[in-house]
Amino acid sequence: MRTALLLMLCVLAACSRPQSVADNQPANVAPEPKPQPVPEPPPKPRYRTDIVITTGVHGNEPSGYLVQDRLIELGFVVFGPCNPWGIANNQRHLQDGRDLNRCFAYDDCPEAEAVREFLRHNKPGLLLDLHEDPDGTGPYLIQNGPEDELGRLIIDALRDDYAWDPEPQWGPVKGADGLIKPTRGMLGFQKLSKVYSLAYYAWLTYGCTAITVEVPGSWPEDQRKAYQLKVCETARRIFSERNPP
Ligand SMILES: [Zn+2]
Repeated sequence: MRTALLLMLCVLAACSRPQSVADNQPANVAPEPKPQPVPEPPPKPRYRTDIVITTGVHGNEPSGYLVQDRLIELGFVVFGPCNPWGIANNQRHLQDGRDLNRCFAYDDCPEAEAVREFLRHNKPGLLLDLHEDPDGTGPYLIQNGPEDELGRLIIDALRDDYAWDPEPQWGPVKGADGLIKPTRGMLGFQKLSKVYSLAYYAWLTYGCTAITVEVPGSWPEDQRKAYQLKVCETARRIFSERNPP
């Protein structure tokens, strides 16, 4: 009888599963914390944020100024109107009679200095200066940035939307197919002449591509405004794709 009882105890001991370490833990020990998911980094901006847009350099070319609130809503950095008196009075020139877009080499023009001050605090990676050509027959771009293809890419992207001026001209500089792109030699000559446009100043000072955006002044206002917005958004998309933020 005693032998049978011992045998039964041995069988029971053999059948029971071995106790794990966990089973030996006192009940009041907190379980191992689960690993927490690593928080996602904040999303990168979809677009470059160093694109500066200037408006209202010539007060009788208001379409850029008229869309600047919308441009700010779209996330652009905007300064304008650069010529407030001209915008208020529908005049190309400054109140003192000078053309602001020829004054950027000089220190005695407060409107030019206001733009320069803004750019010092908002260093442009790309600058777009929005204008209208009262005599223009088709839209065109004047690009400071002789080694860059951005202007051509913008024009190609909007070829279905606009009939670009086939032979645009700015002073003695001729362009083709919607684009005037002075060579480095021409830009060097401009420095000697001290006739600086806003876009030229931006290129010279910051080394960024700087484009004067031109639209025929004879187009209806809504069409001019839509063009300015479309060029800005297209430029941002292409610039951001080529130079990701
Ligand atoms: Zn202009």
